[in-house]
Amino acid sequence: MLWGRCLVSAGRQSCRCKVSFIKRQYGFLPDDVKSLRAVVTPDISKIRNIGIMAHIDAGKTTTTERMLYYSGYTRALGDVDDGDTVTDFMAQERERGITIQSAAVTFDWNSHRINLIDTPGHVDFTLEVERALRVLDGAVAVFDASAGVEAQTMTVWRQAEKHSIPCVCFLNKMDKPAADLKFSMESIRQKLKANPILLQVPVGSGRNFSGVVDLLTNQKLIWRPGSARDDGRVFETHTLDQSVEPELVQEVGEARAALIEQVADVDDEFAELLLTKFSDDFDAVPPVELQEAVRRVTLTRKGVPVLCGSSLRNKGVQPLLDAITAYLPAPDERHHDLVRWYKDDLCALAFKVLHDKQRGPLVFLRIYSGTVKPQTAVHNLNRNCTERMSRLLVPFADQHVEIPSMSAGNIALTVGLKQTVTGDTIVSSKASAAAAARRAQNHGGTGKGEHPSIILSGVEVPEPVFFCTIEPPSTAKQPDLENALSCLQREDPSLKVRVDPDSGQIILCGMGELHIEILHDRIRREYGIETDLGPLQVAYRETVLHEASATNTLDRTVGERRHVVTVQLTVRPAEGAVCEVTFTKELEEQLTAEMKEAVKNGVDSSCLQGPVLGCPVQGISALIQSVTTAAGTSPTMVSACVSRCMLKALRLAGGQVLEPVMSLEVTVGEEHLSAVLGDVAQRRGVVRDIQSRHDSKVLLASAPLAEMMVSPSGSPFGFSDPHGRPVLSSQGYSTALRTLTSGNATFSLELAAYEAMSSQDQNNLLRRAAGLL
Ligand code: GDP
Ligand code: MG
Repeated sequence: MLWGRCLVSAGRQSCRCKVSFIKRQYGFLPDDVKSLRAVVTPDISKIRNIGIMAHIDAGKTTTTERMLYYSGYTRALGDVDDGDTVTDFMAQERERGITIQSAAVTFDWNSHRINLIDTPGHVDFTLEVERALRVLDGAVAVFDASAGVEAQTMTVWRQAEKHSIPCVCFLNKMDKPAADLKFSMESIRQKLKANPILLQVPVGSGRNFSGVVDLLTNQKLIWRPGSARDDGRVFETHTLDQSVEPELVQEVGEARAALIEQVADVDDEFAELLLTKFSDDFDAVPPVELQEAVRRVTLTRKGVPVLCGSSLRNKGVQPLLDAITAYLPAPDERHHDLVRWYKDDLCALAFKVLHDKQRGPLVFLRIYSGTVKPQTAVHNLNRNCTERMSRLLVPFADQHVEIPSMSAGNIALTVGLKQTVTGDTIVSSKASAAAAARRAQNHGGTGKGEHPSIILSGVEVPEPVFFCTIEPPSTAKQPDLENALSCLQREDPSLKVRVDPDSGQIILCGMGELHIEILHDRIRREYGIETDLGPLQVAYRETVLHEASATNTLDRTVGERRHVVTVQLTVRPAEGAVCEVTFTKELEEQLTAEMKEAVKNGVDSSCLQGPVLGCPVQGISALIQSVTTAAGTSPTMVSACVSRCMLKALRLAGGQVLEPVMSLEVTVGEEHLSAVLGDVAQRRGVVRDIQSRHDSKVLLASAPLAEMMVSPSGSPFGFSDPHGRPVLSSQGYSTALRTLTSGNATFSLELAAYEAMSSQDQNNLLRRAAGLL
């Protein structure tokens, strides 16, 4: 097998001086393809682990493709519209033209190693984004310059903020007639509450957009149509000329002054430099000083550099790559607190698992310290097991290049780790983990538990909001389906699988219709099993309204053995999405670890199916007040007794149904606004704000998920099953909106929170579930 197509010394620039301008050519020449031996572990200061985040359709995939092309990794420009891009390599992604799995891509630029993760923009795949951000050091946010900041970008931006990831913004689609730089800058300021720092001024607008002026160097970069097959590899660099383009010179002068002032405002070092050395003429400050200041500002997240371009028209991508290497941090410039306890020993996070038919599970590792080598054993701290890594690869999209070792700061792909699940911490051995724990202890950084502060925090898994049944074609295929599902779950922790205790059916719980459809598709394509999906249903939850206590006794003889146990407990509402178990002080001392485990199991099993609708219970705490057992009573019987006692208490405590509530953003022409508002009100929606954007209105609202998934009753597009009940489909709202606005509106939906239903809505839901409505 051929590992990897070609690896190229990228970012090689050949400068040819002309009289009036310099032509720069980035990227590979036919003969500069290097051998695979060139894949070396680069110096840590030259590594950039970068994610691209954006709203769907902003142009992430197109931009990534251009980056790969200019860096010399691909020989032809991929096109999402033709379905031949490198990063969208799963068959479904090509067919649907969207990015589902964050594929890691490695390439070199300006003697830097860039590990790039193309993150998906669809709300169904928030976990993918979270997972990617967890291991990134910097990010590029891509915007459609005619739309500014859109809903999904706000979600991802918040996630990036949570992980303190420095960002660079790229205003893409500057070639669109509606592209609007001022508006986009303002929306970054308003919606993301960020401080955008404009580093370029666009040259020409709409169809005539031909390049940018770099405000650091005052150089004009122009991509001329027709040059070198129009692939944008060659562009011209001009010095601005006052006599030829006085307006542009004026605009650039003002923009540069604003830039200098803005940077000085947030960077004291730069401000001091200006005042001491350049007080006569701020404009004389050298580009390199300005660049360093912008870098400091970016790293401290006091500002975000903003660049402009058009990926589709092959303009502005090379300066974006330059900005990635110039402004975003190297791995050793980021703080990963607990990693220092490992010193030079291996510490890595498994952030993604993929199943490959030939090679078995492939695990993506972000290495924080030490080195990994193939053919060695590593220790998985979360599973407490030692595994053997057979091979080590560098991920080049769907191509993988084998390498002899990989050190801190890198992202590597390993073969052979069979137990490892997304989110696990990998170290070199049990002994090295113990040594790290000792170091942590000696420095007072301890908590409770076995390895308190030496496990990397994993990935937060969002709550699935939908479920449906899945059936194999025959009972003979059931084990195959179970195997497929367990493989898929290792890859994707946001997929939950359970078995309905009443019907014995397998139930898939996921993030959305698309998520479940893709899984269904993958089971067919990758595992060769044709399955049937039941109708999509909203995953409700339950909690309790007040406190209640209950007692329960179980007295059962099994064979020769008599089991007797009495339990007393109290449940009450609590913060958080879990069922917390606590014991009274006496019980805490009195009960054995085995008994405590049995009690917890009992509580957990009762929380799987609440008393109101049979949905999972959350947001409660259970205080165990007494557990008395006759000698010889088995832990299983204790669990069963606790479970029944819990159910009694939950019934007494007043069941409350929680439903997923979405935040909705609709962009619509003024003339259709009232129709949209009326429809949102019918869907139990609450309007939070109405903003103006150009000639359109942007409606911000929240509404229950269940209501967004059906068309309004009576509509010719209404979805219903044979009994006339509404069928959930993400087509629901889009169909309704299209009808209401003759197709002149766009919208986005994302999960905001699980919220309590009003008693009237809850009654309606219960009556519907009982077939009365
Ligand atoms: P993603 O969903 O963010 O990965 O976006 P894609 O890269 O798949 O692009 C979405 C659509 O926008 C495709 O039809 C692209 O051809 C188009 N597109 C991407 N970049 C540009 C651009 O710079 N200008 C214009 N006009 N269209 C673009
Ligand atoms: Mg994409």
